[in-house]
Parts: sequence; structure tokens; C-alpha cells
Amino acid sequence: MHQSNKEHTASAQKMLSGIAKVINLFFRRHLIGFGTALECMDGRVQGATRKWTKRMFGVRYVDIITQPGINKVLAENTDIPILENIKTMLWISIKDHGSRTIVAAAHHNCAGNPNEQEIQIKHLRLAEKTIRNMIESLPLGELGITSEAITIALLWINERWMPEAIPSKAPILTRIGA
Ligand SMILES: [Zn+2]
Repeated sequence: MHQSNKEHTASAQKMLSGIAKVINLFFRRHLIGFGTALECMDGRVQGATRKWTKRMFGVRYVDIITQPGINKVLAENTDIPILENIKTMLWISIKDHGSRTIVAAAHHNCAGNPNEQEIQIKHLRLAEKTIRNMIESLPLGELGITSEAITIALLWINERWMPEAIPSKAPILTRIGA
């Protein structure tokens, strides 16, 4: 009886992993192209950001651009050499990899930006403006697109290293202003 239960469990597990494989293959086949993530160098957050970006935007690969506390760097918008470097990498991702989705992420327990979540989210929103300005200064006309073709999404990686989407305020403000 005990043995038979074990066999049942084993065959159920086999079946479940088979189903998971089929689902994975199905989705992987539909993942195309590149997205871009601007995130911390912290090794605890990159897997979560990559997975979320792939799932949310259906991209197969995610170019990762890192700086310690990148949301703060982009929010302050003062360190010209680093900002220029980020912009160069962003352009490679957009031009050569065809990325049209930029995810800016911040995270819990960040050594580069040791502020609480609320302040870090403010940094993320300011970072979004900096990224938007960067994109608008790129020669997108060479690619036959405008900056509107590029989506920016904001992400918080929480204390369980799980991704939480931060709704962008930009479209709401536009609507109120219009
Ligand atoms: Zn960090």
C-alpha cells in the first residue's frame, strides 16, 4: 500500500513535470526579441527582474544595464559620465537588439540606495523622467520610430525578492493636463 502510494506520487509528479515542460515550450516559442532592464548590480534582484520582464512583455532576452542603486543615479541625473554610459548601452539595446521595452527596477536592502521603499519609489519615478529624456535624445528617426514606440515600466523587488509592478504616474498626469 505504502509502495503503491509512492508510485502514484511519482507518476503524478512525472505527469506534472511533463505538463510544465509543454507549457514552457509553448510560451518560449512565443517569446521574441529583447527587452532592457536598468537595475542594481545586486545579484539578488536580476533573476526576478529578468523573469518579470520576459513574462510581462513576451520578450525572449533581457539586456541588463547595471549600476549600484541605479534608480538614485538616474533620479539625481548629475553624474554625466555614468549617465552617458547608460545611454550608450540603452542605444545598443534599442538599435541593435530592437528592444522597445525598458524596465527600471529598484529593490529592498539596496547598498547603492539605502533608502526606504517610499523614497526609492520616488527615485524610480524621477528615473523614469530621466530615461524618457534619454530616449528622446537618441536618433530614433534612424530606426523609423519615435519615442512613443518605447515603453517604460517601473518595478520594485521586495524583501522576498519578488517583483511588484509600480504603476506609472505619467499617463495619469497627461490625462489630467489634457
Ligand atoms: Zn542595490
